[in-house]
Amino acid sequence: MTHRISHWIGGKPYESTSDRFGNVFDPATGSVTATVPLAPTEEVDVAVASARAAFGEWRRTSLARRSEVLFRFRQLLAERASEVAEAITAEHGKVLADAAGEVQRGLEVVDFACGLGTLLKGGYSENVSTGVDAYSIRQPLGVVTVISPFNFPAMVPLWFVPVAIATGNAVVLKPSEKDPSASLLLAQLWAEAGLPDGVFTVVHGDKVAVDRLLTHPDVKAVSFVGSTPIARHVYETATAHGKRVQALGGAKNHMVVLPDADLDLAADAAINAGFGSAGERCMAISAVVAIEPVADELIGKIRERMAALRVGDGRRGCDMGPLVTAAHCDRVASYVDAGIEAGAELVVDGRGIDVDGDPAGFWLGPTLFDRVTPEMSIYTDEIFGPVLSVLRADSYDDALDLVNANPYGNGTAIFTNDGGAARRFQHEVEVGMVGINVPIPVPVAYYSFGGWKSSLFGDSHAYGSDGVHFFTRTKAVTSRWLDPSHGGIDLGFPRHD
Ligand code: NAD
Repeated sequence: MTHRISHWIGGKPYESTSDRFGNVFDPATGSVTATVPLAPTEEVDVAVASARAAFGEWRRTSLARRSEVLFRFRQLLAERASEVAEAITAEHGKVLADAAGEVQRGLEVVDFACGLGTLLKGGYSENVSTGVDAYSIRQPLGVVTVISPFNFPAMVPLWFVPVAIATGNAVVLKPSEKDPSASLLLAQLWAEAGLPDGVFTVVHGDKVAVDRLLTHPDVKAVSFVGSTPIARHVYETATAHGKRVQALGGAKNHMVVLPDADLDLAADAAINAGFGSAGERCMAISAVVAIEPVADELIGKIRERMAALRVGDGRRGCDMGPLVTAAHCDRVASYVDAGIEAGAELVVDGRGIDVDGDPAGFWLGPTLFDRVTPEMSIYTDEIFGPVLSVLRADSYDDALDLVNANPYGNGTAIFTNDGGAARRFQHEVEVGMVGINVPIPVPVAYYSFGGWKSSLFGDSHAYGSDGVHFFTRTKAVTSRWLDPSHGGIDLGFPRHD
């Protein structure tokens, strides 16, 4: 039985009249479970108009009242986390524990946004000139849009939405059309938390909807997360239309293993970060750079651990679930062929493995290549699947050069027991987020998340203080209240006396 998914406009479900719909799959069974509307531009306009109408009142709402809504939303999300996780697993395929982890990491940003009273504090300087005070205030932008990818249907929207709402904006979310249901659960929770109708809107769609949001005159800012080519398109289009943009793109994350590292810890990390969520994470490790002479030993340990992984339906307590769609599964599998053809050594082949799930699901097991070299497509391209490549390097400098030559700069990790080497890496590596003996260094909510180079277009990272700055603009006020010393004509530029 399939059901038809609706938009969420004006604080309630909104039935689309689009003549275009996409299929939503259960990736573990391969069956279509729902259809999702692909909004035409007119429906996007209805969504933006509703958000615009709600903005004025929300902006004027006191910080005390806004905080109450945020705290209630936090409570509801914590209580209903497992429901959101189940919706994620049903449409994305990641295992339930992983989906619960995603909700937990999103909740962290809600915690952060609950401190909006402190986050929105400005500065005040008394008597900058005689009888004159100067101060700054932060004000919301208006209607802002969040366009999110399939791989974190709850966490990525939660990187932006709570901060944007806390700071007084109205948000239009365009979630991935592959797994849209989690966004509607979030919408329900916002409504139950008492958020006024229209402050949070969900409009489903594809390129047509996105392009309308990027050019709509009432949309003031765009937070995008997705693949690099689309991130570049979003950045160029939306900035050309005068909008503030943060467009987070794809990744190729390296894990550098120095010879003095704890190889058991490194092997565990390679497994967790390479195959968690079937490699469909922007912070997944896809390239292990082993510095000789430890490559053989490290590969042995990784291989041993891979043999114990259970692949199957995410609702059955397996370690790794399916890929998101059949097309994506085929694309990832084609990289396995490409790797073999290019001369890499296939150590573990994930194709055709036995799974604990419906044979019609979108399965590809954990795959390991050794002796990968930088010109091979399994290294140059973001595969976004459970394919881990090992490259062998002769020295720390060779490994660093490799990481820094890569066009992406999202995350990286170094494994070592040498504090000096780790500190040098942290200083020299050209990547936005660095882990030291930590494989997926997604910053906590009070730092900010963002990559460098082709992994992010724009000046602001997500959440943390960058998020607050992104969703507000500063106004500086200089004020004088009349006292007996005022007066006098002076056409010169204001000086401070
Ligand atoms: P995607 O680029 O295909 O889609 C992202 C969003 O853009 C979706 O909402 C989609 O509907 C929309 N979109 C797709 N094609 C479009 C087009 N031609 N024009 C306008 N909009 C379009 O990405 P995805 O496959 O959903 O997600 C995986 C990608 O996201 C990977 O590259 C991954 O690295 C990246 N990602 C990055 C981060 C990060 O923080 N840097 C986080 C998560 C995912």
